[in-house]
Amino acid sequence: NQVALHDSKERDLLTKLPNRQSFDARILQVCEHFRSYEAVDRLQNKSSWIAMLDIDHFKRVNDTFGHLYGDEVLLVFSQLMEKHFRYNDFLFRFGGEEFVVILNLVNQDDAEATFERFREAIANHVFPTVGRVTVSIGAAHIDSAIMPTTLLDRADKALYHAKDNGRNQLTLYEKIADTILDVDDNEAELF
Ligand code: GH3
Ligand code: MG
Ligand code: MG
Repeated sequence: NQVALHDSKERDLLTKLPNRQSFDARILQVCEHFRSYEAVDRLQNKSSWIAMLDIDHFKRVNDTFGHLYGDEVLLVFSQLMEKHFRYNDFLFRFGGEEFVVILNLVNQDDAEATFERFREAIANHVFPTVGRVTVSIGAAHIDSAIMPTTLLDRADKALYHAKDNGRNQLTLYEKIADTILDVDDNEAELF
């Protein structure tokens, strides 16, 4: 993931993480992989997960400490992501204080545990000058039959559930899916 990106247009200047444009290409590849290998991966109980990570009350960080310290939090946050996730996971800065992770080839329990550990690691980290910062995470299973935009929308819905429920927490889309209306799912049921 990291090595393949030669073009600086594909990276975010501050964190050097792949940007949203890179994500669009990558999610298509991941879905393509699962269309080809679905049977094998399902047997091995290995799937991929998409998560949206949004720093809580980040505006306050800027308002209290200034934009430069805000930038430093973003940089350190991205470094903690790189330390925490595995080499074969894909990390992106989506924009502002929003990041995306594609977690590869783990079952639901391991995905949940991994995101939860990262959330805790952030909550326990002391950022220079700024101190404590928390992150909310919304994650969804990558189902190759579902359009990438819908996968992103699911992660986003889960994220907003986490925000609504008090922030500094992880929500898995699969656990709230029956409580929210997913238009694309309803259409899929016709076939
Ligand atoms: P919530 O918990 O609901 O996510 O609240 P929030 O304050 O994090 O969310 P909101 O979307 O209101 O504010 C995001 C802030 O992120 C506002 C903007 O100034 C700041 N921001 C976006 N990009 C950057 C950046 O590159 N550097 C800095 N320092 N701040 C940024
Ligand atoms: Mg945001
Ligand atoms: Mg935020």
